[in-house]
Amino acid sequence: MTGGILLDMDGVIYHGSALIDGAFEFVHQLLDLEIPFRFLTNNSQRNRRDVATKLQRLGLPIDEKYIYTCAMATARFLARQKPGGTAFVIGEGGLMTALHHNGFSIVDHDPDYVVVGEGRMLSFEQLELALRMIIGGARLIATNMDPNCPTDRGLRPGCGATVAMLEAASGVKAFSVGKPSPVMLSDVCQDLGLPLGHVIMVGDTMTTDILGAVQLGLPSILVLTGSTRREDLGQFAYRPDLVVDSIAQIDMQILETLWARDPYGLTRELQTDAA
Ligand SMILES: [Mg+2]
Repeated sequence: MTGGILLDMDGVIYHGSALIDGAFEFVHQLLDLEIPFRFLTNNSQRNRRDVATKLQRLGLPIDEKYIYTCAMATARFLARQKPGGTAFVIGEGGLMTALHHNGFSIVDHDPDYVVVGEGRMLSFEQLELALRMIIGGARLIATNMDPNCPTDRGLRPGCGATVAMLEAASGVKAFSVGKPSPVMLSDVCQDLGLPLGHVIMVGDTMTTDILGAVQLGLPSILVLTGSTRREDLGQFAYRPDLVVDSIAQIDMQILETLWARDPYGLTRELQTDAA
C-alpha cells in the first residue's frame, strides 16, 4: 500500500543553508518511486517559487508544485471564508502574493481582516494601525503562531510573537491557520488527493508538526535533527508514531508499515525507540 508524505523543511531537510545527511537520497527516492509528497513550511515570507529555488540551490530537483506554505493555506482559507475580501497585511511577499492569487485585495484602511505573517520589516506604526483596525472590527488572522524562527545566526522573533503583542493590546484572540492547525494540514492532504490516514507527517517540532498530525489522525515521524531532543518527549501528552535520529533512517519499509496501519495506530512494533 502506498500513500503520501508531508515533509517539514527546517530541521528535517536542512539547517540554514546546509542539507541534512540522508535528505538528498530520501527526496530522490520519493521522486523515483513517484510517491506523492509536499514540503510544508510555517514561514509565510517567501512564495512557493522562492522556496523551490532555495531547495534547488541545495541540490534538490524540486519545482514549486511540491511546496505548500502557511501563506498559501491562509489565503485559501480566507478566500473560502470571504470571497473577494480585503486584508491589511503585516508580512512580506509570500503572503501578499498568496492573498492576491486567491482574490483578496490588500488595503490600508477598513479591512475585513488583519493578517499577520513573518517578516523583518515590522514597524510600530504598522502595529498601531493594525490594533485600531482590530478594535474597529477587523478579524485577526495569524499565518502561524511559531514564537520564533531559526536563522543562521540564531533565533529571531516569529509571527506568533507579533500576534501575541496585538492580542495583548486588543484583547482579541487570533485565528491561526499554519501548523498545527488542521486547516493547513487537511488542505494539503486534499491537494495530494489522499485520505488523511494515508499521509505521513515527518517533522522535527512536537508543538507544530507532530501535534497537527496527532489532532488530524495522520501517522507521524519525529526526526531528532531539529528542535526536539529525545529527552524532551516526556513533556508532551502526545507522541509521534515513530522517533528516528534523522531522515536517513526512514526507509520504504517504515513508510509502508505506517501507510498500512490500523487507523487507530496499532504500530507498536515501530514504537520501540519512541519515548
Ligand atoms: Mg522544522
